[in-house]
Amino acid sequence: MTRIAVVEGDGIGHEVIPVAQKVLAVLHPEYEYFPVEVGYGRWEQTGCPCADRDIAELKTADAVLFGAVTTPPMKDYQSVILRIRKALDLYANLRPVKGDGFDIMIVRENTEGLYSGIEEIGPDRATTLRVVTRAGTERIVRAAIRLAQQRQGKLTIGHKANVLKSDVFFRDICMAEAKKAGVSYNEKFIDALGLDVLQHPQAYDVIVTTNIFGDILSDVASYLVGGLGLVPSANIGDRYALFEPVHGSAPDIAGKNRANPIAALRSAAMLVSHLGDPDGAVRIESAIQQVLASGTRTRDLGGSAGTREFGDAVLRVLGTQG
Ligand code: NAD
Repeated sequence: MTRIAVVEGDGIGHEVIPVAQKVLAVLHPEYEYFPVEVGYGRWEQTGCPCADRDIAELKTADAVLFGAVTTPPMKDYQSVILRIRKALDLYANLRPVKGDGFDIMIVRENTEGLYSGIEEIGPDRATTLRVVTRAGTERIVRAAIRLAQQRQGKLTIGHKANVLKSDVFFRDICMAEAKKAGVSYNEKFIDALGLDVLQHPQAYDVIVTTNIFGDILSDVASYLVGGLGLVPSANIGDRYALFEPVHGSAPDIAGKNRANPIAALRSAAMLVSHLGDPDGAVRIESAIQQVLASGTRTRDLGGSAGTREFGDAVLRVLGTQG
């Protein structure tokens, strides 16, 4: 049986994930769904945001549907999502940004770079080690190349090699792999790329970049489609896969039925596609489009629908699709 671990996490995760789970249950009632509770809320109650047994449970699932977790900026608090990405070796973070006339896939390295976790705070100096390995770069660029080959065949390498030696290393490996695979590629400094993606989104197909640059670039690119409430992501490794919105726990709107569930719904669409049901993904997306076209929108898109109302409208459309 296909087993899905459902992690609401914190904040609006408690609102958008139930919407996505209901839609999944309509498309795949035969899946088994089981909750795993991790995050800041869990830390507040128990002093532990994510235990070894939670990681072990996640590893028993065929896929994880994940909301978002709050990571307080405290010296000794370890980010739960970073821990999960590392523990499950989810090295490729795929963040599609798709709209009228453009279809971009941001491929973010997800396990090293500036999120290496190797850091210290001293009385007068704090350091974080930016780690770029050959193995880590080869596997992320190969994943990006495979995607480019299935799409428009264009690869853009985002880096800051003019300043960072670790990015000279990253860029050179990416270029060598692209050449070897015969994929057409270009390279751009990440800061210029941030602006160019907004000005000429149609010029991009697959963008591969290091961890923090991909994190920032995808938030920036979400502007093209209406903001963070709309952009999903897949975290893929060789064995495990986790699907989550690009957005965080949004404490400013949490508990108010105001969060846009589209990013979570699209993450669910990526999940079913990953598990071999691309038609299910198309059904979710066309239901979203139909609800938007009917004028039902959440507040971030200028409407007045709540999270639940939007989700119910999507469920109604899926129901009428038979
Ligand atoms: P955020 O993405 O939570 O929110 C940024 C802004 O976008 C807020 O104004 C929020 O209201 C809005 N927004 C986000 N999602 C929305 C949605 N679905 N509908 C409507 N509006 C939405 O980012 P932040 O405020 O920088 O971070 C809040 C917390 O989330 C922090 O603790 C951060 O560490 C965490 N975070 C977690 C993840 C993750 O779990 N993968 C990712 C990013 C941030």
